[in-house]
Amino acid sequence: MNKAELIKVLAEKTNHLGNVLTVIHDIKIPMNNGSGPAVSSHRVGIRTCSDYSPFGVELDGRTVSSGYRYGFQGSEKDNETKGSGNSYSTEFRQLDSRLGRWLSIDLLNHKYPYYSPYQYVHNSPISVIDLFGLGDPLEVMKIRRNKASNLQGAKARNSGTRAHQGFDLYAAPGTSAKAVKNAVVYDVSYSSSYGKTVTLEITDAKGIKSYAFYAHLSAVTVSKNQKVDEGDEIGLTGQTGNAKGQPAEDAHLHFELRSSPNPGLGMSGRLNPNEVLDTKFYSQDPEAINQATVGVLKEQKDGSVIKINLDGSEKIIKNKTNLQNLGQIRFDSSLAREAKDVNGQKYLIVHDLKSQKDFGVVRKPDGSYDFYKKPQK
Ligand SMILES: [Zn+2]
Repeated sequence: MNKAELIKVLAEKTNHLGNVLTVIHDIKIPMNNGSGPAVSSHRVGIRTCSDYSPFGVELDGRTVSSGYRYGFQGSEKDNETKGSGNSYSTEFRQLDSRLGRWLSIDLLNHKYPYYSPYQYVHNSPISVIDLFGLGDPLEVMKIRRNKASNLQGAKARNSGTRAHQGFDLYAAPGTSAKAVKNAVVYDVSYSSSYGKTVTLEITDAKGIKSYAFYAHLSAVTVSKNQKVDEGDEIGLTGQTGNAKGQPAEDAHLHFELRSSPNPGLGMSGRLNPNEVLDTKFYSQDPEAINQATVGVLKEQKDGSVIKINLDGSEKIIKNKTNLQNLGQIRFDSSLAREAKDVNGQKYLIVHDLKSQKDFGVVRKPDGSYDFYKKPQK
């Protein structure tokens, strides 16, 4: 077993900007205090540690690194041409940390004519991070009361007897609600149950249409047939319709993804909002009969997963570095269980975060994964 295989469990320590300051691994290093031959204590292994200039240059003399991939603001370092920490890759652009400028213009520059298209976080890098999570309806994504019954599901409510057609995302009334994709405003409407609503028509790369539906709004800031870009405000959250008079902790945006614009009641025409959201939510226990007693899992855009309990307590259960993609499935390799088939062939059972199903995989010598058996349709 080589050293790279030994360093399987890594934990990032980050600050308020997401800057990776220290990465510790799970190798215990034996120490000797000089009073005898025995091991007197162990110290934690450090994979990398770094301090950064405001725009992300790794500081001389304050950086010890052995090739960890992520750095300033959690972005992937792009070290080949300019040296370690002098260039970062983000979703859309390259940041030059020595210039404090992007190398290409902002794709949304037509909307912000008063900003230089090369400026980075309004030149306020100590307090502001670059927001790439445009594909969420709210800036802070939280499920109402952290209850799995506020997710979408045919039997989400009333001990498994009632459907919930979308996600209830906690939002104080008046919070800006944003377009989750580039879209056209299909409808602006009012009903006694949903209150003020907006429906966006989204067309994917294959030409397939889906509809993002926002309910209980207090104000609508778009009009029918208007084109909107991902991240544009479509209205303000509220408590209109049957959400009127709910306690403050229940204030929410009811968000649905639909396959047709007016699908009627029940679950027909409803898709799982995770299909369009950047931040995805799952039940901690999809099999539980009473989902109101179950907390949620929040998968963030960088792939890390946080377990959020009903009382609001949180625990990071999946570090982004352990997450693997294989075909349509996505799993945490550190949580894989070993199994053997009747012929003695070893494989790993992994839990797919998207479908919440288990799959068998094998780890290839190069560290990548393959299916043990092809998943059935
Ligand atoms: Zn709802």
